[in-house]
Amino acid sequence: DASLRLAATIIPFGQRLKVLLARDISTLSRLEQVRRDFVANVSHELRTPLTVIHGYLELLDPADVPELAPVLGEMRMQSQRMQQIVEDLLTLSRLETREALPDEEVAMIPLLETLRREAVALSQGRHRISVEATTGVRLRGSIHHLHSAFSNLVSNAVRYTPSGGEIVIGWRQTADGGAIFSVRDSGLGISAEHLARLTERFYRVSSSRSRESGGTGLGLSIVKHVLNLHQGRLVIESEPGRGSTFSCVMEASRVLPPDHGGIFRAE
Ligand code: ADP
Repeated sequence: DASLRLAATIIPFGQRLKVLLARDISTLSRLEQVRRDFVANVSHELRTPLTVIHGYLELLDPADVPELAPVLGEMRMQSQRMQQIVEDLLTLSRLETREALPDEEVAMIPLLETLRREAVALSQGRHRISVEATTGVRLRGSIHHLHSAFSNLVSNAVRYTPSGGEIVIGWRQTADGGAIFSVRDSGLGISAEHLARLTERFYRVSSSRSRESGGTGLGLSIVKHVLNLHQGRLVIESEPGRGSTFSCVMEASRVLPPDHGGIFRAE
């Protein structure tokens, strides 16, 4: 019977395929482990020499060698940048090996106010910055990691929004009991072809512009990892030339009752 013969040939083939696939995945995960260890070791080893170089550069007084002052300034800036890259790589390596983060009660209203103050300091009066919180619910998670992830989105909004633009930091509940932290800006925006790749390490829409803005290209990868460890998702909506909204969507299981009654608005 033709259909039986066909089934007989398909089944062993299917089994072989499964075996091959299983082997392939184990090789891949071994390679992934090697890559992770390599990045972690290299970053760790680079940390001490960089600290020493940076320390000595800070000790040199440009007034002693005025003709070298611009060179010294550039060296300090670049060594600081290198330190930031190494720190971000270490942060990413640590996040990759974590299975869970501390379960703390994160009061969002004070955190939103802190984020607003950080944005104002970074913006130096170049943007209109406000907070719009329509809920006082708190989050269950790591205060340190959530702060750094949200802070990353806020600093990106400032860095990628030209002077005169607007930035709104939001906190609201969803119909299913979850909550959304968002940062909306009226900045450069991101075209569709880049959107899906933004959270990859070192991925940048324009490398020269990002370098000027002082980033490492690792910020959004860190954000994504932190959210994953909180069962959250990063949603990016953007229109080139009009601005972007980065939303951290948190599940209801991560939301704690409010400790703050009213609606909060600050400018
Ligand atoms: P970087 O350190 O380069 O800012 P990130 O991982 O934080 O790295 O962001 C990756 C890239 O995404 C940035 O280089 C930039 O091109 C783009 N990007 C991030 N946030 C925004 C934003 N709010 N508006 C426009 N582009 C953005």
